[in-house]
Amino acid sequence: MDLHGVGVGGGVAVGQIIRMADPLPEPEDTGHGGDAVAENARVAEAVEAVADDYRALGEKAGGAAKDVLAAAALMATDPTLIDDVTARIDSGTGGERAVFEAFASFQEILIGMGGLMAERATDLGDVSQRIIAHLRGVSAPGIPTSDEPFILVAADLAPADTARLDLSKVLGLVTRDGGPTSHTAILARSQSIPAIVGVTGVLDLSDGTIVIADAATGTIRVSPSETEIADARQRIADRLAAAAAPITDGALADGTKIPLLANLGSPKDAVAAIDLGAEGVGLFRTEFLFLDAKTSPTVEEQKAQYVELLAHFPGKKVVVRALDAGADKPLSFLNDAHEENPALGLRGLRALRASEQILRDQLIALAQADAETDAELWVMAPMVSDSEETEYFVALGKELGLKIVGVMAEVPSLAVLADQVVETADFVSIGTNDLTQYTLAADRMLGSVAHFQDPWHPAVLRLVKLIGDAGTASGKPVGVCGEAAADPQLAVVLVGLGATTLSMTPAALADVRAELGKYTIEQARELAARAITGRTAADARKLGSGT
Ligand code: PEP
Ligand code: MG
Repeated sequence: MDLHGVGVGGGVAVGQIIRMADPLPEPEDTGHGGDAVAENARVAEAVEAVADDYRALGEKAGGAAKDVLAAAALMATDPTLIDDVTARIDSGTGGERAVFEAFASFQEILIGMGGLMAERATDLGDVSQRIIAHLRGVSAPGIPTSDEPFILVAADLAPADTARLDLSKVLGLVTRDGGPTSHTAILARSQSIPAIVGVTGVLDLSDGTIVIADAATGTIRVSPSETEIADARQRIADRLAAAAAPITDGALADGTKIPLLANLGSPKDAVAAIDLGAEGVGLFRTEFLFLDAKTSPTVEEQKAQYVELLAHFPGKKVVVRALDAGADKPLSFLNDAHEENPALGLRGLRALRASEQILRDQLIALAQADAETDAELWVMAPMVSDSEETEYFVALGKELGLKIVGVMAEVPSLAVLADQVVETADFVSIGTNDLTQYTLAADRMLGSVAHFQDPWHPAVLRLVKLIGDAGTASGKPVGVCGEAAADPQLAVVLVGLGATTLSMTPAALADVRAELGKYTIEQARELAARAITGRTAADARKLGSGT
């Protein structure tokens, strides 16, 4: 029997499953016997203890987990939430129930907001459980322990759970909820743990069942055969060998160079990416710097960040994306209108064009940072629809002093018109996350349609081919910077379709480097030609995997 979900990180795990413990039961309201002051003090002490615990755990874990846990500590001590708890206690509700109700009502608000905000509701639930557990004097439900290694199965994982994982025991993660951008996915990817999220039915498996969790295909094979287990173990060994192999520049077996670049969201991540062999940056997501900003960042503020980034890459290519506001990444200073379908709304270049001064300031800051550093700066716009928008962005970038200006291919219309777009754009970078969402008409944040979010779909591959062909005919570079580039087998197909560079989360560089080295350009083109004849994503994956 197979179960299916969305694979994260491309690895594979084999072993017994163990399910996470159930959450604490909902607290009854037993009141507090009339001493609201004492009850508020008891809750305040629990809140502080939980926040301290998150911070300590973050310090220990480091990396992406540290930021996630610092955010959880802030949630625990959020003044609006605490005021709500206090008001409930003041009107007679007992501490545990007051915490439960206040957090639950905030969770509902977050879920109502949709997108990234809704995914944070799980984090808030974890904070609430920990405070209630502290008040009760019991330990918070969390990661099970076992002497034997296991694959952890859960409804969803909170950041603190993911950070607490003992990586010598946890072989992989499988969750029923969560999309490809949930915290489970983000942390699993950054720690190279094979994970599959959004798997319906996984909680029905009993502890001890042996499974193969294949994140490359998003498949969980239940009770596999000996041959399948041996096969999976071989893949795990190959992966370990790839991670330990010397770092070389990305290249195919025939020597064709395919530069392997990093996707970054902060200059702080540059050193780790370089250590993993990033040959430059293929996507710098500038909006991540300003997610909390209430007003648009100044030229000086932005310039400082860009100088810090570029200084890490002298002589290397760094592709910076103009602010991509909207949908899953709301920036209130660019678009705070309520939209029924924000993914189809005023986002990306559309929002920037509607507030042109903000765009101008960003491009000016980038040109100034470029002048002060020695990296090779490329700048691109997100969510571009056609050649008219391309001409607008390229002309503005050049007017403000940028040398290499291009566009992202995320909207199917741009792919269809790629031959016109490359007349003006200096380069095209394919964002397969959005290109898949828009081609399959499936919201990338929504668990219920997560199985459509598969860049192996032949419709997506054919659009990539249109862009690749336009790049080849015009001599313009075509990169891929969506998650698809981090799937080693798909990376080979993307090169076969015309991609000249690949950019990905740095943790994926070793796997992709190893896989590219197994094929010549001719073989990659052959696999690509086969994959696009597939009828479904699964079919294309089989045809394009050379197996
Ligand atoms: C994409 O859409 O593939 C992409 C790289 O951009 P983001 O994931 O930031 O939307
Ligand atoms: Mg995108």
